[in-house]
Amino acid sequence: MNLRLIKLNSPNSNIYLIDEDVLIDTGCGLEEEKEIFETKLKQCNSSFDKIKTIILTHCHFDHSNGTRFFKNAKIYIGWDDASALEDKDDNVMCSSYFDQEYSGRSDIHIKLKGSSVLPLKNDFTLYVIETPGHTHGGICLYDKRRKTLFTGDTLFDNTYGRVDLPGGDKEEMKNSLKKLEKIDFGIVYPGHGKVFERNQNTFKSLRI
Ligand SMILES: [Zn+2]
Repeated sequence: MNLRLIKLNSPNSNIYLIDEDVLIDTGCGLEEEKEIFETKLKQCNSSFDKIKTIILTHCHFDHSNGTRFFKNAKIYIGWDDASALEDKDDNVMCSSYFDQEYSGRSDIHIKLKGSSVLPLKNDFTLYVIETPGHTHGGICLYDKRRKTLFTGDTLFDNTYGRVDLPGGDKEEMKNSLKKLEKIDFGIVYPGHGKVFERNQNTFKSLRI
């Protein structure tokens, strides 16, 4: 399994490419960034058409609108964030925060729950962890074998995601972080910013 981070300009989310055909989050999907996005995929021997699976950590525009470029991909998202895409709910997706309207995919293949397990590759299985707080249906994805965690906008290096946006909830975030603290992981792949390693202060330093 080959994991690569594709970075576009801020405010795009981090985009994680697994091998040539799986993406975790897709960025803002802006027309003016289409070419550079495609170039970066090609550098990894992938392309818009090669992507078969997209898992979204949550519904926000800067993670989900990039789905518009991927016609052959099946879209996976947390159960409680799916309706935002299906209804093109720009309020819940915070599209106006980016001065945009949602133009991404609305056809969800599977709505994920806390019990969902995604056997994506022979040696790569992701376990879904429901982590509401930043959005109501936000999820983290746990690679048990490598002890790594894709955290979306729930956990960043030294901080956690905003809880003051539509669908956000401080108490839910608190509980989600407690849930993550109990999980055995080392490397964190967040939705923005740099990849980091968990240490003994990762959760202690979070004031919530
Ligand atoms: Zn977000």
